[in-house]
Amino acid sequence: MTQVINNPQALYRHLPAMDSLLLIPQVIGLSDIYGKAWVKQQLTELLNQARNMIASQASLPVWCRDPQAIVAKLEQQLQDKDRHSMQAVINLTGTVLHTNLGRSQMSQAAIDAVTTVMREPIPLEFDMGLGQRGHRDQHIGELIHELTGAQACCIVNNNAAAVLLMLAAIAPGKEVIVSRGELVEIGGAFRIPDIMRQAGCTLVEVGCTNRTHLSDYEAAITDNTAAIMKVHTSNYHISGFTAVVDECELASLCHAQGIALLSDLGSGALTDLSQFGLTKEPMPQQMLKDGVNLVSFSGDKLLGGPQAGLVVGDKKMIDKLQSHPLKRALRCDKMTLAALEATLRLYRQPEQLPQQLPMLAKLAKPVSELTNMAQQLISQLPVSAYFRISIQPCFTQVGSGSQPDQLLESIALCIKAANSSQLLQLDKTLKQLTKPIIGRIHSDLLWLDLRGCDNIDELQQLLQQGLNHSVKQLETRL
Ligand SMILES: *Cc1c(COP(=O)(O)O)cnc(C)c1O
Repeated sequence: MTQVINNPQALYRHLPAMDSLLLIPQVIGLSDIYGKAWVKQQLTELLNQARNMIASQASLPVWCRDPQAIVAKLEQQLQDKDRHSMQAVINLTGTVLHTNLGRSQMSQAAIDAVTTVMREPIPLEFDMGLGQRGHRDQHIGELIHELTGAQACCIVNNNAAAVLLMLAAIAPGKEVIVSRGELVEIGGAFRIPDIMRQAGCTLVEVGCTNRTHLSDYEAAITDNTAAIMKVHTSNYHISGFTAVVDECELASLCHAQGIALLSDLGSGALTDLSQFGLTKEPMPQQMLKDGVNLVSFSGDKLLGGPQAGLVVGDKKMIDKLQSHPLKRALRCDKMTLAALEATLRLYRQPEQLPQQLPMLAKLAKPVSELTNMAQQLISQLPVSAYFRISIQPCFTQVGSGSQPDQLLESIALCIKAANSSQLLQLDKTLKQLTKPIIGRIHSDLLWLDLRGCDNIDELQQLLQQGLNHSVKQLETRL
């Protein structure tokens, strides 16, 4: 809706003056909320938009002629820009540990711990009467010892950093042997051969993709070998005619040869997940018992904590990691360490974990509960001629490359539209809600996997808003 006038120059005179805009009472009110300079900058932007329109289309936007319309436009723009980019969303994608949606949601204990260290000074590296300067990882060390039996630990920014530091500190300029079946690529440019090069190690590949034997490792050991590394194939699975060498056998070999046995475990489950109906994952404590010297794993995969990389194991080797210059570059901040400490503390009562860790609560939720949720939702959602909503069985992935073979039975609300453009439009509307709902479009249906829902009442209200808004848009288009 624009007003077309033949003489564009005359149009510029219709633009309101900044000084008069700043005197409008509502604009003064907005300045009190958002700050005067910021409001003025937004008005400048709006006036520039209008000038561009005059220049390109020889017309004036209608809102320019009415002070109330300018105020409304300004307020909308201020609200839009005030929305945090890292706002909360509802993850109904069917992937619980979604890397692009921030992986683990944290326990209340972790949230409280982070809040405290954000607000007040804490003895992060301070001598509290023990006669020596403390170390930031020591807050985690005791707990790790208790939970895994490890003599020591080193905490860094993520597991990729943990693997890099482990290799750089234990095998600089030396050879590290890895099975060809374990040359993993994790999303986002983490590839074992590249990390090896960055750490200054020489990768020695042994065996074949499907089969590697102890004799393969044995034959590859030279005077220049510093370590054998096992890499957990966390995001794929090799099946059929296969052979891998387990940690116990490798540990005996490494011990006899005087080299280190390292393990990149990926997702570190610190408790047997089968007690919650999930597949059991290899655990760091078992690896250490089997004789692995150092094990690395992520804090925000199956552990359910903050993004971090934990290396646990032999004290002498951990000391090398702690004194390596890369450690200073890769170390964690106090918020991460506080969240990690609080999360690890929960593992003292593993049976309580599903009540404490939102990630486990979701993964362990029975399908019957999800079905009840779906029925409750569908009975309360608006019925329209545009969207047909049904309850469908679906599968949830754990995500983050954890347990790629395991799909959990789940229940989705499945929305069908008259055509794909209407479906895309609904998907877009749901992503623009005050708390966006992220689903997944598959075979011309929008799937909302209810395993990702934290609060059914909130979801019901938001869905209702989204559907009503979409229907209104479709009706005005007709
Ligand atoms: C996930 C994973 C990594 C990378 O861990 P981040 O914490 O994402 O950096 C490395 N190795 C394995 C085996 C993994 O599963």
